[in-house]
Amino acid sequence: MNTLVLKKATIIDGTGADPVPNGSVVVEEGRIKEVLPGSPGAVPSTATVIDCDGQTLLPGLIDAHVHVGAVDANLMEQQRKVFPSVLVIRTVKVIKEALDQGFTTIREAGGADPGFRESVAQGLISGPRMLICAFPLTQTGGHGDFRLPTEGYTPVEQVAGLATRVCDGVDQVRRCSRDLLRQGVDHLKIMAGGGAMSPSDEIDTSQYSLEELRAAVFEAEAVGKYVMAHVYSGRSIRNCVSAGVRSLEHGNLLDEISAKAIKESGAYLVPTLVTYEMISRMGKDLGIPENNVRKINEARERGLEALAIAHRVGVKIGSGSDLLGPMQVYKAMELELKSRVLGPMGAIVATTKTNAELLKREKDLGTVEAGKLADLIVVRGDPLKDIKVLQNYQDRITLILQGGRIYKHIS
Ligand SMILES: [Zn+2]
Repeated sequence: MNTLVLKKATIIDGTGADPVPNGSVVVEEGRIKEVLPGSPGAVPSTATVIDCDGQTLLPGLIDAHVHVGAVDANLMEQQRKVFPSVLVIRTVKVIKEALDQGFTTIREAGGADPGFRESVAQGLISGPRMLICAFPLTQTGGHGDFRLPTEGYTPVEQVAGLATRVCDGVDQVRRCSRDLLRQGVDHLKIMAGGGAMSPSDEIDTSQYSLEELRAAVFEAEAVGKYVMAHVYSGRSIRNCVSAGVRSLEHGNLLDEISAKAIKESGAYLVPTLVTYEMISRMGKDLGIPENNVRKINEARERGLEALAIAHRVGVKIGSGSDLLGPMQVYKAMELELKSRVLGPMGAIVATTKTNAELLKREKDLGTVEAGKLADLIVVRGDPLKDIKVLQNYQDRITLILQGGRIYKHIS
C-alpha cells in the first residue's frame, strides 16, 4: 500500500476551524486516511514521511473562474492574430502555472475545450484538475461577441484560445447547450450581461432574455449539471437568479436587492477582484484598449463594496481570479483582496471549501478531512498573519500534492 505521512504541520483544514499546530496527515492510495492533532504514531516502514517543520498545510486551492486560453491580455486581438495551434501550446503553459501556484483544481469560465481536461487527467500535461464549460454562450453583440461595432461578418466558430458561441433565441441557445453537453462539458457558461473586455457593450446592461437563460438552465439541469453566468448589474443578476443559474460571476454592481435574491435562491457569488486590480495596473502596457480599461476601472471601484453587501446579506461566496494573459500568475492576490472583507480565514474558506461545494465536488475536494482526495499544499509562513505568503509561490509553496502524488517538494 502506498502511504505518505506529513508531520509537524500547522493544519488549516479549509472548514474555517482554528489551525491545528504540530498536526499530521496520513495519505493512503491518493486519499486522506487520517488527520491527527499530534504525531502520526507508528507508520509502516515503506511509508514516505515528510517533516513539514511547522509550515502551514492547506487544502489545494481552487480557482473557480479561469480562462486558460486567455494567453494574451488583449483577447479580441488574440483571437484575430494567433493561430489555433499556437493558442493551444501557450495554453498548456498557463495550465501548468496554475498548478505551480498551488491551485490543484480550476474551473474554466470559457474558451478551452474538454481536451485540456483529458490531457491533464491522462498525464499528457501537468496541471490542476479541470472542470470545463468549453465555449461560453453569448448573444449577438454580447460579452462574448468579439466583433468590433464596425465589423459585419458572421461570427466565426473558433476552436481555441477564448472561443465563444454566438447564439440567439431559445432554439439556438438550446441547440448550443445540448451540443456542448454532448461534448462532455462539466457546466455551461452564459454571458448574461455586458462586460469590460468586449467591444460593443457596457457593464451595467443585461443580456439574453429570461426565456433564453431558462433554456440553458433547463438543458444543464436535465443532465445533472448547472449554469455559471457572467453578470455585473442588479438586473442581470435578478434575471439569472429567476432562471435558476447556480453560479453568478463577478457581480460588481450588485445591490442589496439583488444580493438578497441570490441568497434566497441558494446560488453562489464568485467575485473576481484581482483581474480588475491587475488590469488597472498593467492593462494599458499589455495593449488593452482604453475603452476596455475604462470599463475595468468602473468594475474595480465597485468590487469590494459588492462583496461587502453580499457578505452582510449572507450570500455563499466562492472565489475566482478571471486573470488574463501574463497576469495569470497573480492568482493568490485574490485572497488578499477578499480578506479585506472576509478576513484571511474567510478568504481561504471561499477558495477551498466553498469553491468545492460550488463545483459539486465537496465529497472529494476542498478540505483536509479523512476520505477526501489528497490535494494538499504546504506553505512557508502563516497565511492567517500574512495572506500574501501565498503569492510568492515559487519560494513559499514547498509541497504540492495532487491526489496523493508529489508534484513539487522543496525541503
Ligand atoms: Zn471571465
